[in-house]
Amino acid sequence: MSFWVTEAANGYGQTIEVTRELCVRQSKFQKIEVYETRKLGKLLMLDGIIQFTSFDEFAYQEMMAHLPYYAHGNPDKILVIGGGDGGVLRELARHKEPTVLDLCDIDAEVIRTAKEFLPEMSCGFDDPRVTIYIEDGSKFIKSRPGYYDLIIVDSTDPGGPGAPLFGAEFYADMKRALRPGGVIGTQAESPWLLPDVVKSLVDAARSNFRYVDYAAISVPTYPTGMIACCVASDDRILTEPAVLPDEEMLEVFRYYNAETHRAAFAKPQFVRQILGF
Ligand code: SAM
Repeated sequence: MSFWVTEAANGYGQTIEVTRELCVRQSKFQKIEVYETRKLGKLLMLDGIIQFTSFDEFAYQEMMAHLPYYAHGNPDKILVIGGGDGGVLRELARHKEPTVLDLCDIDAEVIRTAKEFLPEMSCGFDDPRVTIYIEDGSKFIKSRPGYYDLIIVDSTDPGGPGAPLFGAEFYADMKRALRPGGVIGTQAESPWLLPDVVKSLVDAARSNFRYVDYAAISVPTYPTGMIACCVASDDRILTEPAVLPDEEMLEVFRYYNAETHRAAFAKPQFVRQILGF
C-alpha cells in the first residue's frame, strides 16, 4: 500500500510516493508530517511544504552550515535560527573548534518530532555545546548584541511563522548580534519559483551589510530542484573559503568542498537580473 503526498504552493507542485505514515501532528504553529517514502527515505513536511528528504538533505544542510562556516574560517559562537529538524546543527557540530552552538526555533514540537522520528537528523542536539531556545528568532536575536561570529537562518518560507525572518529589520538585528568579522547565512529560496522574495531578502541584506552574495544549492526534492543561501558580512568577501576543509571533513562531506563553495556563486543571467548583480 502506498500513496502520494504533494507540496502544492506558489502555483507549482512536487509529489512523492509514500509507503508509511510515521507521524502527523498539529503544533501551535504548524502541521508536522513525517513519512517513509518509496525511493527517498524519510520525508518531513511543515504545513504541507517539504522540509527535507533523506535522499538529498545532505546537500542543503552541508551548504547552509559549511559554506558560511568556512567563509568565516574560525567562528567560535554560532547561532542557528529555525533548523528544528537538527540537520544544520548536525553539520555544525562536526566542527570541534566552536564553543557555543545555540539554536532558536519557534516550535518545540518540531524538535520533539525530530528527536522521536528523525535521529539521523537530530543527533546534533546531543552535543554538549548546544543550547536550545524556544522563541521567535526575530525576537531572540535582539537579546544578544555583539555576541555571535556566525548566524545561520534555517527557516520555513515567508508564508507562516518564518515571515519576520525575511525583513530588513531582522537583517539589521542580525548585524547587531554579530561580533566584528561576523558572517550570516540565510535560507534564500529559489529564484525560479520566488524571484520577488529572493530579491527582497537580498535587498534586506544589502541594506545592512557591505558584502552580500547568493549561493545556489542543488536539492532535487525542493520545488524547482534549487534553493540558495544568502551570505553577508561587513568584513569579508564570502565567495572564497577563508579556511579549507581538512581531509577528515572531506571524507564525511557529500556535497561541500572548496569547489562547490566557489561554484555556488556562479550566477546565470536571469539570477543576476533578479538580484541586480
Ligand atoms: N530546510 C528547511 C526548508 O527550508 O525547507 C527548513 C527546515 S527547519 C525544519 C525550519 C524551522 O524554522 C522549523 O522548525 C520552524 O519551526 C522554524 N521557524 C519558523 N519560523 C520561525 C521563527 N520566526 N523563529 C524561529 N524559528 C522559526
